[in-house]
Amino acid sequence: MKIHFAAVLLLFIVMSSLGMAVSLKGGQPFIKTNTIGDFQKVCLDSLKRLPGNVSKTALDVACSQAKVLEGCYSVEGHPIYHFQPKSKQTANQNRILVIGVMHGDEAEGGSVARRWMERLTRLQSRNKWRIIPTLNPDGLKMKTRVNANGVDINRNFPSADWDALAHKYWISKKNKDPRRNPGPSASSEPETVCAVRHIEDFAPHFIVAIHTPYGVLDFDGPKVKAPMFPGIPWVSLGTFPGSLGRFMWKGKGVPVLTVELKGAKLLEQIDQMDLLQDVAGTLAIKVKKTKKKLKNSL
Ligand SMILES: [Zn+2]
Repeated sequence: MKIHFAAVLLLFIVMSSLGMAVSLKGGQPFIKTNTIGDFQKVCLDSLKRLPGNVSKTALDVACSQAKVLEGCYSVEGHPIYHFQPKSKQTANQNRILVIGVMHGDEAEGGSVARRWMERLTRLQSRNKWRIIPTLNPDGLKMKTRVNANGVDINRNFPSADWDALAHKYWISKKNKDPRRNPGPSASSEPETVCAVRHIEDFAPHFIVAIHTPYGVLDFDGPKVKAPMFPGIPWVSLGTFPGSLGRFMWKGKGVPVLTVELKGAKLLEQIDQMDLLQDVAGTLAIKVKKTKKKLKNSL
């Protein structure tokens, strides 16, 4: 027994000294499949595989600037990388956090995030953007909505009502649908923890979550006249215990724009996605002005 423990410890030390990411999972050494240093390659490889056209030169630039926030690894150990273009720091700049592929079977959301990344390498934006194109890399690999633990990340956020309602809601309203499993506890999943760390680190004024397949724009935020976007109507889908919208808008007053794409069809007109990015940027600025007005009138 002692020898076994010593062997495990030795393996752990050797791996660590080689710069390999090692963590203990269930008491066993768990070697992350991708370690610090090659996540820029992972960024390129995984984003190239997503549906739709790729601008190789722009993606090379974006992925060469990819980073991984501490602890941002999936259950299977894949890096959850992000891209934040260098931007001119101006006063009162809006910080917008974009999250793609929270659900692994919604690859098109990652394609839009990729397009926005490519675009941000070329233009000087009014806002400061941080993009996490694939929050759920294990789900993307397995083509499942849930992560490798079978948990729906968008029901696992630590909203104030999680303990009281997440399981209740899942059982009574969703008949324990495995696609909407909220997990054993709030923030039990590394992908959720990673998203929350980004929220703390970047302190966004506005969040865009890109999903499929409903074909609507859903906004959880203050009442503003939403900018027009051709082809996708504004519809309120509501929030759920443990959803990002409930956690951020209901809990922290940070608006969340949920883009629900209608599958691959929109990717055929990818320039529309450029317009969608501009619409999101405009909405973020509008919301900030509305908030300021509310504050001043109090
Ligand atoms: Zn989704």
